[in-house]
Amino acid sequence: MIEQKLPEETSHGFTDVFCAYEEVCALYLILCAGAQELRSKYMESPEGRENGYEGGLPVPVWKIAEYMGLTIQERNLSILDVATSPVSIGMLMGKLDYGDPQKPIIHLENGISSSRKNYVVAHELGHFWMKELYKGAPEPECCSDTRLSVRYIEMLSDAFSAFLLLPIGALFQKEQEFIDLHPQRPVNLEEMLADVARDANVPYYYVLTGYEYIKAIICCVRAEPEDRKHFDAKLKAYLTGYFQNLRKQVDGIREEINRIDSIFFA
Ligand SMILES: [Zn+2]
Repeated sequence: MIEQKLPEETSHGFTDVFCAYEEVCALYLILCAGAQELRSKYMESPEGRENGYEGGLPVPVWKIAEYMGLTIQERNLSILDVATSPVSIGMLMGKLDYGDPQKPIIHLENGISSSRKNYVVAHELGHFWMKELYKGAPEPECCSDTRLSVRYIEMLSDAFSAFLLLPIGALFQKEQEFIDLHPQRPVNLEEMLADVARDANVPYYYVLTGYEYIKAIICCVRAEPEDRKHFDAKLKAYLTGYFQNLRKQVDGIREEINRIDSIFFA
């Protein structure tokens, strides 16, 4: 029997890891572009103009959801709490009811803070965006379901919600304002992020997790071309395939990221 040798680059796993990271960053950029598209649609609509939304913080996610045809129903979801099920964790804060695609509903737990409600609505909008775009997308049984196929969709909806609630341009403008007002060094990062959370009306915790998604795409976009070959290849595949309508948004985000002062890049 001939011994089969693994190619050297896969034998230690590191190259694979970087390749997978770049590929997931390309998907994050697509989600970021999708979130940007929703905001732009609302901003350019008669409703958005009437409400004076110009793309800053906080992002009016409830109004965006309603503009997209969703109804938000606040109620006590604890009756649906599935924490005792073997495949679930945590509490149910929101649920997208896509049973009738003409009349999608976001069920929202009414006993949580307004900032947390914003996050939940943005997260459910992420599910909605994926369902609309790709009707065959796996249905999340429930956001607290622990099965891996469901966790993957939940992670994508979380990334989408971060990109929706924290537009990159508005975020870094806010940081610039904070730094101008607080010239002492080093910058008090905790205070700055708390400021962002307050202006975005999003829980502090979600600002922190959201930053990880945002940083991931910033790093890939700003990397030297030879260091982001997998990212570029995957992005090209997305933009010549299923997501070609997002090309303009992706280009706009890349330009915005390249304009950011590298002080924010650490
Ligand atoms: Zn979910």
